[in-house]
Amino acid sequence: MRAAAATLPCLAGCGLASATSPGLPLLLPASDPDAQFTVEAKYYEKLDHKKIKCKLCPRECVIDDRERGYCGARENRGGTYYTLVHSRVATAHIDPIEKKPLFHFLPGSPAFSIATAGCNVNCKFCQNWEISQVRPEQVRSTYMPPMDLAALARQYRCPSIAYTYSEPVIFYEYVSDSVEAGHAQGVRSVVISGGYIQQEPLKKWCHNVDAIKVDLKSFSEKFYREVVNGELKPVLETLVTIRKQGTWTEIVYLVIPTLNDSDGEFKAASLWVKSNLGPDVPVHFTRFHPEYLLTNLPDTPLETLERAKAIADAEGLHYVYVGNVPGHPAENTYCPKCRKIVVERQGYTIGQIHLKKGKCGFCGQTIPGVWT
Ligand code: SF4
Repeated sequence: MRAAAATLPCLAGCGLASATSPGLPLLLPASDPDAQFTVEAKYYEKLDHKKIKCKLCPRECVIDDRERGYCGARENRGGTYYTLVHSRVATAHIDPIEKKPLFHFLPGSPAFSIATAGCNVNCKFCQNWEISQVRPEQVRSTYMPPMDLAALARQYRCPSIAYTYSEPVIFYEYVSDSVEAGHAQGVRSVVISGGYIQQEPLKKWCHNVDAIKVDLKSFSEKFYREVVNGELKPVLETLVTIRKQGTWTEIVYLVIPTLNDSDGEFKAASLWVKSNLGPDVPVHFTRFHPEYLLTNLPDTPLETLERAKAIADAEGLHYVYVGNVPGHPAENTYCPKCRKIVVERQGYTIGQIHLKKGKCGFCGQTIPGVWT
């Protein structure tokens, strides 16, 4: 067995639960003068009367002087737009990469996982709402500049940094600088995102980051409007662009009882993935647990997840997983040609791996992913 999960408190002191690596101390002393977190934003347009238009995500907030955008993490000061969360880490943990989940990316490896406060959508089912739905000054944060972040990842033997938990798009500049700092120190970077981002900043990320996991929260504009406060179309465009640019990607579809769990929606999403991204992009149908504003709904029944998988399999997708059900056989990676298990999983624990240079160890079929 390669990796086993154990509980670990947040390394930045946020109190959220996490996993792996025993006995790590708090990383750096907390310090909070806002100036050290304030860096000019990369994507915005100056308008008349000191207004600006943010060009980072499809929301395109138009913001008056001394006001903030929807995400609460960016502020207009005298006609110049700033991120307020550069190096402002609200939570930090060492997680198995399988928890992101990324199943075709360095299996069994730990990812140094961080987030800042804020988000550009408001999902009613958010699992991390304590940090995603607040402003940066409302949570305790730790100053962790990119070089230090990369050094800490190395120190704790993490081959990758994961930007995760809240929404990395809203700490875009910090991610971009940390990706570079990480690469300079031999550490890779993975972005765990809702994919609600404009094309120009996305393409820049595609050139630099090593993998992007995207949440496809449903296949319905109505759901995105009513449950996410976002839009589906830009997320689909994001997926197409990532695929075209050749960056490794996997999709998570969180299955929520009564809201996005119909056969028709599973079928439409699977067909779209196959036609627009190809059959080799992994899709994880993941179990919902009641959280935040959706505590009235039950956990996703196992039969629903298995139905989603059966539909996606029937549409011809090669790597369809069932998530948040530890021990389920659909956690394993199967070779699409000989059907043998090439990566064995149980929860976050990795068992046997039968891959040779990215090919099935039994029949030689290429298994796409980032394996070394
Ligand atoms: S990143 Fe924030 S400020 Fe910019 S458009 Fe999106 S929500 Fe608005």
